[in-house]
Amino acid sequence: MQLAFVLVEPKVPENVGAAARALKTMGFGQLWIVNSQVHREPAAGWVAHGSDDILAAVRAYDSLEAVRADADLLIGTSAKARHGKRELYTPKALQVLLGNKGDTVAQAALVFGREDRGLSNEELASCDLVTGIPLAVSYPSLNLGQAVMLYAYALSGLRLDAAAETAAVGQWTALRDRLQVLLPSLDVAPDSKLYQWALERLPLLADKDVRFLHTLCQNIEKKMR
Ligand code: SAH
Repeated sequence: MQLAFVLVEPKVPENVGAAARALKTMGFGQLWIVNSQVHREPAAGWVAHGSDDILAAVRAYDSLEAVRADADLLIGTSAKARHGKRELYTPKALQVLLGNKGDTVAQAALVFGREDRGLSNEELASCDLVTGIPLAVSYPSLNLGQAVMLYAYALSGLRLDAAAETAAVGQWTALRDRLQVLLPSLDVAPDSKLYQWALERLPLLADKDVRFLHTLCQNIEKKMR
């Protein structure tokens, strides 16, 4: 699995420099930026100090949907659970969860919001999972660069490999597509609680569970034919 840190529309070059430095010091390399050019400003380089290679290698996107096309697991970050009833996973829980993915995820992306207003509810809803760092106070929230640093630290123990072209890559997205067809044919309607619960829990599964569920689906599909 590869892990990219994605900044959506950052406005302050120093924050992007701090993010680059956080990635560098914790052993990460992929910094993706949506709809912003501030990483090219000198102030980003001053704060990045010694991490200029990360800034130079920034991948620029014009929308979060475009990021989605390059990542098979999208993880949103938020200080508050203001994205409906979905659970907010701690960085520690996220580390365990990602560590259990084996080779069923090729490219994960951890998405950070704007300094002034974070990620929109629609953007958070488009993510497979949402994570938040529990804080002692509800105001203020963390600064963008600080939040990136805490995640880089919490996730630094993950063993990341270059995207391996193994058979398992794409298995979890394939399982999602498979259930989206199978469940309605079992009379589990897309607007039912059961359907939504199943699809919401899917990103949490470990590699073993993904394989087991594929086998189960296969048996059900065979029986139905
Ligand atoms: N007022 C904004 C705060 C944005 S802070 C809001 O209400 O969302 C900028 C970004 O830093 C956030 O979008 C998020 O990516 C990250 N961040 C800040 N505090 C965080 C926390 N406690 N947990 C996870 N990410 C956090």
